[in-house]
Amino acid sequence: MPELPEVETVRRGLEAKLRHRRFARVIVRRGDLRAPMARDFARRVEGRRIERVERRAKYLLIHLDGGLVLLAHLGMSGRMVLGRHGDNALGAPGPHDHVLFEVDDGTELRFTDPRRFGRLELVDESELQAHKLLAHLGPEPLGKDFTAGLLSAALAGKRTPIKAALMDQRVVAGIGNIYACEALYWADISPKRLARTCTGIRAQRLVAAIRKVLRRAIAAGGSSLRDHVQPSGELGYFQHSWAVYGRAGEPCPRCKAARVPCRIRRIGQGNRSTFYCPRHQR
Ligand SMILES: [Zn+2]
Repeated sequence: MPELPEVETVRRGLEAKLRHRRFARVIVRRGDLRAPMARDFARRVEGRRIERVERRAKYLLIHLDGGLVLLAHLGMSGRMVLGRHGDNALGAPGPHDHVLFEVDDGTELRFTDPRRFGRLELVDESELQAHKLLAHLGPEPLGKDFTAGLLSAALAGKRTPIKAALMDQRVVAGIGNIYACEALYWADISPKRLARTCTGIRAQRLVAAIRKVLRRAIAAGGSSLRDHVQPSGELGYFQHSWAVYGRAGEPCPRCKAARVPCRIRRIGQGNRSTFYCPRHQR
C-alpha cells in the first residue's frame, strides 16, 4: 500500500511534469473505483490546465484552472504512470489502466489500479476544506503545525495503545502501519504504551522520529512493498529498508552491540502487525 512518502514522491513527479500543462483528452476506461467516478469526469477535466499539485495526508490534490480540484487516492494498489503517448515503452493500455489522461505535450498519465480501491473525484476548490475525506484530518506530520504540544494535547485523554493513536488520522494525518512502527522504534517508545502517557518529552521524541522517518523515505525516493513506478515515468521500484518493519526475529540494529542481542518482535495490534524491539522501546 502506498504510504505518505510514496504519495509525496508521486506528487513531486506530477508537479514537475504536469504543472502548467493541459489535459487535452481524458479516457475513462473503467470508472467503478472505490467510489464510482462521476459520469461527466472526462468532460469536466478535458481542456483544463494543471496549476499545481498538492498533497494532504495520502490524497493528491491536482488543482486545475477554473477552481476545480482532482482529488486522487492511490488506495491499496494504485499507481500513476507517465510516459510518451503512443510510445512503446508505455505500451497499449492494460486491463488495470482505468483512466488515461492525454497531456498537451504528448505525454500520457495513466491511473492504474488492479484492486480498484483508489479514488478519482472532482471537487470545487471552495469546498475542498469541508470535503468529507479531508475535513477531519489532523495536522500534516511534516508541516509546521505538527508540534509536540499539539501531539501531547491530542494524546492526553487516549486510552488506546500509542501505535493505534498514531494511525488515527485525526491525531496526525497520513501515518500508516509501516511508519507508525518505524517512528516508535526511533522514539524508543513501546507500541503497547498507552497513548495518554506519551505526552511531554515522549511527544517531543515522537514528533522528531515521525519527521525523521518520513523525510528519510521521501529523500530515498519513496518506498514500497510492491513495485511502484516513479512518477518520472521510469519503470522500476524503490528498494527501501526499514529498521523494524518486516524484520521479526532479526537483531535490533540499536541493541545488537549488547552481549545478548535482542531480536525484533512481531505482535498483532488490531488487525495489523506491529514490529518493535522489546528491549529499548519502553
Ligand atoms: Zn533495541
